[in-house]
Amino acid sequence: MEFSEKTIKIIIDEEKCEGCETHACVEACKTYARGILVLKNGKPAVEGTPDEITRKGTECMACEYACWFRGNSAITIEAPIEGLDAYRKKHGTD
Ligand code: SF4
Repeated sequence: MEFSEKTIKIIIDEEKCEGCETHACVEACKTYARGILVLKNGKPAVEGTPDEITRKGTECMACEYACWFRGNSAITIEAPIEGLDAYRKKHGTD
């Protein structure tokens, strides 16, 4: 499952959520952001249209951190940095 906020993309490998007992991602979203992650059938899900999610998302990345420490490392967040590719090419750090 994946969804986007303004500048980041959140990818959740739901297979890793099987057997997760903490659901720390949902708790973190409710505590540190606006609770766009909810629990549905034992797995994290988002409610609302893509527009609503973009508007409500705070890009805090608390879900990734919480899952990393208390879940099963199921969340990957892509946070593109504008100009990074050009910078790497210029400085030979590819
Ligand atoms: S904390 Fe991680 S493993 Fe647990 S339900 Fe959330 S995303 Fe899945």
